[in-house]
Amino acid sequence: MRYDVNGLTSGAKIDQELVVDLALSVDTAVMWWSDFGTGELTWTPGLDGLFGLPGAQEQHIRAKLEELVAPLTSAARAASVWQDFALEQSFFTPEGETRWVHLRARTCVGPDTQGMLGIITDVTSRHEHQVALTDLADRYRLLVELSPEAIAVHQEGLVVYANPTTVRSLGASSAGQVLGRPITEFVHADSTPEMQRRIEGLADPGAASEPAEATLKRLDGGTVDVESVSVRTTWEGRPAFQVIMRDITEQKAAAAALRYQAALVTHVSDALIATTAAGVVTSWNPAAETVYGFTAADAIGQQVAEVVGAELDPETILAAGGVARATHRRKDGGLLDVRVSAAQMDAGYVLVCADETARRRAEQHFTTVVAALEEGVVVVGPTGLVESANPAAERILGITEDEVMGESSSLAELYDESGAPIPEAAYPTALTRRTGLPQNTRIVQVRRPDGRTIWISIACRALDMEGDPPHAAVISFTDITDRRMMDARLEYEATHDALTGLANRTVVINRLSRAGQERAGRQTAVLFVDLDKFKVINDSLGHGVGDRVLQIMGTRLRHGARVGDLVGRLGGDEFAVIADAIGGPDEAVELAEQLRRLLSRPVLVDGRQLHIDASIGIVLVSSGDAREGEDILRDADLAMYQAKTRGRGRYAIFDVELRERTQRRLQLEQDLRDAAGAGQLWLAYQPIVDLRTGRRTAVEGLLRWTHPRYGVVPPGEFIPLAEESDLINLVGAYMLRTATQETLRLREQDDPDLALTVNLSARQLDDPALVPDVRAALAETELPAGAVCMEITESAVMRDPDVAARTLAALRELGVRLAIDDFGTGYSSLAQLLRLPLDTLKIDQSFIAGLGRSRDADALVTSIIAMAHAVDLTVVAEGVETAEQLDFLRGLDCDLAQGFHLGRPTPVGEFPPQDPR
Ligand code: C2E
Ligand code: CA
Ligand code: CA
Repeated sequence: MRYDVNGLTSGAKIDQELVVDLALSVDTAVMWWSDFGTGELTWTPGLDGLFGLPGAQEQHIRAKLEELVAPLTSAARAASVWQDFALEQSFFTPEGETRWVHLRARTCVGPDTQGMLGIITDVTSRHEHQVALTDLADRYRLLVELSPEAIAVHQEGLVVYANPTTVRSLGASSAGQVLGRPITEFVHADSTPEMQRRIEGLADPGAASEPAEATLKRLDGGTVDVESVSVRTTWEGRPAFQVIMRDITEQKAAAAALRYQAALVTHVSDALIATTAAGVVTSWNPAAETVYGFTAADAIGQQVAEVVGAELDPETILAAGGVARATHRRKDGGLLDVRVSAAQMDAGYVLVCADETARRRAEQHFTTVVAALEEGVVVVGPTGLVESANPAAERILGITEDEVMGESSSLAELYDESGAPIPEAAYPTALTRRTGLPQNTRIVQVRRPDGRTIWISIACRALDMEGDPPHAAVISFTDITDRRMMDARLEYEATHDALTGLANRTVVINRLSRAGQERAGRQTAVLFVDLDKFKVINDSLGHGVGDRVLQIMGTRLRHGARVGDLVGRLGGDEFAVIADAIGGPDEAVELAEQLRRLLSRPVLVDGRQLHIDASIGIVLVSSGDAREGEDILRDADLAMYQAKTRGRGRYAIFDVELRERTQRRLQLEQDLRDAAGAGQLWLAYQPIVDLRTGRRTAVEGLLRWTHPRYGVVPPGEFIPLAEESDLINLVGAYMLRTATQETLRLREQDDPDLALTVNLSARQLDDPALVPDVRAALAETELPAGAVCMEITESAVMRDPDVAARTLAALRELGVRLAIDDFGTGYSSLAQLLRLPLDTLKIDQSFIAGLGRSRDADALVTSIIAMAHAVDLTVVAEGVETAEQLDFLRGLDCDLAQGFHLGRPTPVGEFPPQDPR
């Protein structure tokens, strides 16, 4: 390039060095100068060409130049010190072509000059080259990014680039999971040495390996088979390897499938034979060798009929649908059952010959087995026609196979367990044929042609599950008639009483549980029948007679009950009759009476005539009654018990009051144990008056129980309860202690000679603690023994006279006085009583009540008093309620009297003082 600094517009004083420096830095360039002082713009020649305006007028060139350098000059004016500026600008030539220029300039500040010197260079060609290059890189990158092949770059063993296909193939979700990790992490250990070897051979940039198979390891642990090529490349200035990989998994699978198919042909057990159109064998697989005994070498080239030992015309088979059964012959002469399928192929046929000899043998075996089965087996076709029946089926159903073959399977009439006919559509075979579903263990009755009805247990299943219904079905069954009879027998035994054949207790209770569901308005009567004194018969005449009596009574009850009534034996001599639809209590009583009359008729057993009565408890159950069967029976039992207390041969109707009484009794029994401890037991005192002086000489302590729920309970109710257990001893001891203490208090008040009378119960006489208890009570209170009198009833003494005598003697030894209570109610003789160490005799209140009204009572009381006085016994008259009675007794010279007329039993705190005399 040539330039001339002197050619610049005059006045420019320019540093030569600067010019040279600038000039050296450019290629094809034009120099320009902008004087800030004068605003002048000058340039060296060549600018017209550079601007694509050859020979253009100066003003045009100046205008273009001004436009291009304007950014520089304005920037330079703003800058305070000298500075370099550079700028690349484009513009259009008049031809419409884009040109690029590079502008470089430096401000020049001298003593008399101030401006900017610059060089303008055409850089269009460099620019175009650059763009083309960027374009190319972009396009290549895109290609790599979008490539369906996996492309990756690794450098020094680490992955530095991976395209999306690589990322996807490795099972990663982003390139981040792959980049920076050792390449060996993604190559299967088996493929690593080979890969290493291949890239080692790539010494020069651009060198590529041969395609080779490798296995990649995916992040999820799976593998991918690829074919890969490695290329030696440069990555950021340093050597690297680009790997291009193609997924060949599917290709490998396809190859495997092909190999498998090929193997199949060799390994199938069916003979595969290919022939020409003329029947010459062209292919003979190993199975054909095995089946027919000819080697492929022997068979190929032969007529097919020769090697299968029979006529074999593919056309005939094709015409018949492509499949035929045939008998072929092996090379050694053995017969083969074969199924031949034929297909046309190329210029010949392919024949598949399946050896079914074994299967047919199995079929034959199977038929033999079915024939030998105990179970009946019948095969029914899809349309319901019988296809076969084995001998067992013939035997069980009483038919022959010939008779039923091809007939409808609904020929046999079926009945369900209750004996109702089963509609044909609901037959097990019909159901299975229609639905394909198996029917398991259905129990049905079959009417045989000979009229006999048998029970069979049926199972039925479809023969072919594929395809649409109706299906063919196989039905198998066993004759369970005997078992059924046994079951019926067992059921009968489980529900019936063995002795009488009546329903047993379980059945009765079950039936009772349904009684409450009776329709409104009608009631169910439950009669609980108990034979009176049956135990005596059993014990005295033996169980044989007893059993006979029970049987006879059972029969009588059955006859006496109405049709439809349930008669059951509950056990022992207890029976129950459940009568539904009873009009009311009257009707129930009428039935009870009728049964009782029947039962009480004389029974003749072993030549002996017996008279047996029965007590009957009746319960009426209305609709909606919530009682359980057991509850109802218990209530009926209660009523029966009630009836018995009224004497023999009675009936009683249960009512709620009866149950409440029973419940109260149970409750009291339970609560009594704690009553004394809870302070609920106390004593009321009734005065005993001397008839001669009219003074109170003694009190009788009478027990009271204030029950938290029932209030004051009289001793007549709870003493018997206490007597049923040893509780009476506890209660008696408590009573004794309380009575002695309280009497002491009364004596201290105003009656120093007051005596105490207490009652002893029969059971207390056996209590070894009784005598010590009495002794202790006396010692504690210092009450003189002679001030205490103990009363025992006649019947208590009679229970065990010896024990009574012993205990009374012991008590007497303590100095205690003794009295006989309720005299006249028992049947003891006075003579018996006189053997006891008695002091006093209390005439029962029932006689006193009759005084002046009944001559008998008058006479009895008169003679008792006389007799007692004759043996020095003091006589007390109990239950004196009127002045007349009192006068009468006084007239008879009775010693003492007690009764409401003289004073009622009173708590100790309210006891009135002795009349002052
Ligand atoms: P009991 O020993 O014959 O007692 C007399 C019963 O006649 C008492 O009945 C008394 O309240 C009642 N009574 C008295 N005067 C008259 C009267 O004028 N008219 C009528 N209708 N009754 C009268 P209570 O207290 O109900 O006693 C009943 C029975 O309970 C007693 O008959 C006795 O056998 C027994 N008992 C009472 N307390 C005890 C006790 O502490 N131990 C034992 N083992 N039995 C007792
Ligand atoms: Ca008494
Ligand atoms: Ca009495």
